[in-house]
Amino acid sequence: MIPTAFDYVAPTTVEDALSALATHGDDAKILAGGQSLLPVLRMRLNAPEVVIDLGKIESLRGVRDDGDAIVIGAMTPHSVVGSDPLVKEHALLIHRAVEHLADEQIRHRGTFGGALAHADPAGDLGAPALALGSSFVIAGPGGTRTVPADEFFIDLFETAIGDDEILTEVRIPKHTGWGAHYEKFVRVAHQWPIVAVAATVKGSGGSIEDVAIGLTNMGSTPLRARAAEDALRGGQDLAAAAELADQDTNPPSDLNGESSYRRHLAKVLTRRAVTAAAGG
Ligand SMILES: Cc1cc2nc3c(=O)[nH]c(=O)nc-3n(C[C@H](O)[C@H](O)[C@H](O)COP(=O)(O)OP(=O)(O)OC[C@H]3O[C@@H](n4cnc5c(N)ncnc54)[C@H](O)[C@@H]3O)c2cc1C
Repeated sequence: MIPTAFDYVAPTTVEDALSALATHGDDAKILAGGQSLLPVLRMRLNAPEVVIDLGKIESLRGVRDDGDAIVIGAMTPHSVVGSDPLVKEHALLIHRAVEHLADEQIRHRGTFGGALAHADPAGDLGAPALALGSSFVIAGPGGTRTVPADEFFIDLFETAIGDDEILTEVRIPKHTGWGAHYEKFVRVAHQWPIVAVAATVKGSGGSIEDVAIGLTNMGSTPLRARAAEDALRGGQDLAAAAELADQDTNPPSDLNGESSYRRHLAKVLTRRAVTAAAGG
């Protein structure tokens, strides 16, 4: 199918994009890499009157060092994030997750901010962003606000970004020297995971000083495996801690697997991800 007709604007500044959003309100839709939006428009699941393309706003692209954090511009393509040396050095977990995200063509067009704003619970970037304690910088008519990751993801395909707002960048606290691993369980290559586990570990020689674990597709939003993290910080062995990985989750049942199967996967994948992140 082809989408319904829409007007197209391509502002060159965030201010102009915000003013286009203010003018068109509910009738407008933001376009980033188009890898999720265009299929939605082609299936006519959404029919905006105006599409506001952020592709010409240079200030939304790139990765920069900002002291104790690295900052990734919302319009930075996955391929750039995946090959950026700052990301690899200070947020290895994001680097590892991008390696597993879709295929090269989609990584070339799709953007870091677009994927997070889309908030697909099966998306590969939410759990790593959550585990790393990222914060989301959102611009709106009243200025800019910063939302922590655990308040950003609200529900299935729903975030804290308002209708008149734009995600501009994501700040990720540096985790320099932390090991990291993204363990993704798929039925078909280059697709969204049935379940995935994002683990990052501070420690050496197999010992765990600190740990953060994010879960993909274990509920309507990305989740932290807090009980498993606490058990590991408390010195419990990994096999026992991983058994807690599905606590406080609400995994869906669908054609790819029952909820109970996803709970089982979360435990197995947590064990694998933490082992790999700790260098085991
Ligand atoms: C075949 C295929 C396989 C894929 N496989 C995977 C996979 O394995 N893992 C995975 O994680 N993803 C996968 N994806 C999705 C991919 O990661 C997309 O890049 C991502 O979901 C959307 O990013 P985008 O930049 O294309 O955003 P768009 O499609 O342009 O936008 C997505 C949504 O976010 C909104 N939006 C975008 N940017 C902003 C912003 N800055 N501020 C406010 N709202 C914004 C848009 O209005 C839209 O509603 C796949 C996609 C396809 C087509």
